[in-house]
Amino acid sequence: MFSCRREVTPLLSERLDRPLLFREQTNLQLHLLACRSCRHYGKHVKTLSQLSKAFKKFDDGK
Ligand SMILES: [Zn+2]
Repeated sequence: MFSCRREVTPLLSERLDRPLLFREQTNLQLHLLACRSCRHYGKHVKTLSQLSKAFKKFDDGK
């Protein structure tokens, strides 16, 4: 089983910046099925990233 903090949370952030390897993707999906706190964290990270992108756009539009 994956270790949440050491292996899963970095992947959850990295997948927003780069495509994951097939193996990483598979492991991540399997883990997310079993682990509620990582699912929650993944949602959170995604929201944060969307927010920061939105702010960036706002800045550029000046
Ligand atoms: Zn987990």
